[in-house]
Formats: sequence, structure tokens, C-alpha cells
Amino acid sequence: MKGALFLGKYADIKVFLHWTFFVLPVWIGISAFRQGYSWEAISWNILLVLAIFVCITLHEFGHALIARKYNCKTRSITLLPIGGVASMEAIPENPKEELNVALAGPLVNIVIATSLYLALSVSGSPMPSFDKDFVIGSDNFLYVLMYANFFIALFNMIPAFPMDGGRVFRALLAIKISRTKATRITAAFAQVIAVLFILIGFFYNFFLIIIGVFVLLGARSEWFVEYSRFMLREHTVKDILIHRYESMEAGSSIEDAVKHLLDSTEDHFLVMEEGKVVGTVNKEILLKGLDDHDSHVPVREIMDRSFRTLHPDDELSEVYNPQKGLLKSGHLMPVIENGKLLGVLDFENIAEFIQVRTSLLRRKKASMGAENINS
Ligand SMILES: [Zn+2]
Repeated sequence: MKGALFLGKYADIKVFLHWTFFVLPVWIGISAFRQGYSWEAISWNILLVLAIFVCITLHEFGHALIARKYNCKTRSITLLPIGGVASMEAIPENPKEELNVALAGPLVNIVIATSLYLALSVSGSPMPSFDKDFVIGSDNFLYVLMYANFFIALFNMIPAFPMDGGRVFRALLAIKISRTKATRITAAFAQVIAVLFILIGFFYNFFLIIIGVFVLLGARSEWFVEYSRFMLREHTVKDILIHRYESMEAGSSIEDAVKHLLDSTEDHFLVMEEGKVVGTVNKEILLKGLDDHDSHVPVREIMDRSFRTLHPDDELSEVYNPQKGLLKSGHLMPVIENGKLLGVLDFENIAEFIQVRTSLLRRKKASMGAENINS
């Protein structure tokens, strides 16, 4: 994620703090200051936010470490003001495994809350009264942290994507019905919950509207991922690879490359050197190159070297998996077998393939309906 500060690494999982995170302690500090709190109370407030985020990080590690048991790697955990995001390369498709991964996060918060409860009971520390004069301080800090952890666990168990409860709900359904059907039901249910949040938010609390929108977007993206996977299953790269593509030599100048661009209907090109693909360029890269460099500079200097190479037998659902974040819109991927370039593939082509399959499926359903009426 861009604009994120690297905090550290554990079990090969990097932890980042997104810059927007700093909005939170600053906002808490300012609102506490405006309410006339003492500096000591303001410090306790900020400390509480930081402690909660340590618990959220542990929650994400709960998911990540259980997922690793099922061979699903997590690249990083990023802390945002709204919570933590674990970038997993895949989520286990076996419903029981997905259930365990989803439950592991909230379970961490339950364990923290229960430990705090036991420690506070043993120490005989008195229960604070949460009246309107309540201020966070040394005498009630751990109590508030305990309640916060119970709340995090409860909130995450709301049965709607993108919350953990949504995954639990889907996994439970997927034990009995197909994963695609289970996702469709869970996503539809999440949308109902989202609308309820937004409606209630209008009357009571603005924050609920934000959560509602968050759930709405989460449900849509989860459905999109599952739908694409369903449409692409049993298809491989060789089914849709593009045989007609254009290329240019790495040594040719930016000026010549732009001429090539203007002379062609394509705006994506492979860059070749001694018969091998060494990079890719598109219209944006060429125009930016023209802005930043002398027009005699070779294309080699500006090309994108981070292109991904595919094998004709690669599964399309793997290539198109947005969770892996490997597919960039507007970039060509050369398809190579035994060192031989067979063709190219891009994001747009896979998206078109999904659209075509959707139309075909609709057509098939419509004609089956007509047959039923006729018979
Ligand atoms: Zn979680």
C-alpha cells in the first residue's frame, strides 16, 4: 500500500502503518482538548487508541497465522484508522478452513478481553462507573481496553462482508451448498444490513453511515471476486491468449516509439531485445517518457520491467485473482512456453472473457426457460 510506514516484521509478515492512521490520535487529541480535558486525560485517550491498535494487529495476526497453516500466505498487515487489513494471497476455499481463519481474529480479542477480566478480578481493582463525568485514566484504562476488545470481537462477528462474520456465514453455508451460491446469499444479506446501518445512521449516529457504505462496498467486491472465479474456473491462459500483438525494440528511441504508437491501433507494446521480451510500454509510459526525457533516449530507459510472465497452462482464476494484486490494468503479460513467446494477455481481455461468458450463460438460461414453456 502506498504511503505506509514500515513498523516491523513477524513470521515473515510485514506490518505497515498507513499515513491516514495519524488522523485518528490527532482527532482524538483535538476533540479531548476541546472538551476541556487535562493533558493527562488527553494522553490516556491517545494511549488507549494505540493500545487498541496493538490488539487489532494481534487480531490480524490471528487470521494470518491460522491461514498459514493452510498454506495461504499473508504478505502484510496494514493499519488504517478504521482497522487492520491483512493482505492474504488467498483465502482457503475449503469451508471448514475458511471458518477457522475467519474465527481466529475475533478469538484473539476474546482471549485478550478474558485475560484482562481475570487479571482485574484477581487484583481486586474496582469496576469504574461509566457515567457522564467518565474520563479515561490510570484507574480504569484496562477496563476500557477489556470492553474495547469485547466490542471488536462482537463488531467483527456481524454476519456481513467485509467483516469476519460475513466469512463465517459464507463458510457455514458453503458446507451445504456451493461456494458461489453461498457468496451470493451472504453478499445479498450484507447489502440488507448495510442499508439498515445507513438508515439508522441518518437518525442516530453518522458513524453508522460510514460503516454501512463500507459494508456495501465490501459485499460488492467479495461478490465480484467470487463471480470472476466461478466464470473463469476450468479455463487456462491458452484459452484466451492474444496471438496478434505489437512490439518494439528496446534500442529504438522514444521518438520512434511514439511514431509507432500513432501509426497503430494498439496502445500496449512488448519491448524486445535479441528476440526476448525485456519489458512492456503503453501509451501513458511513452507520453510520460516524452515529457521527462530527450526524445532520442532509448525505450529501454523508460519501459516497465516489472511485467509478469504467464505460462499457457496457468489457471485464469489464479491470474485474475485481485487478492493477489498481481494484475495491473493496462499492462501486457507475455505468455511463454519453453522460452518461446506464444502471445500476450491483459486484464481487459480477461474482463471481456467474463462478460462474454455471462452473456452466453444468460442466453442459455433464457432458451432453457423457453423450452420449459414450450414443453
Ligand atoms: Zn478480522
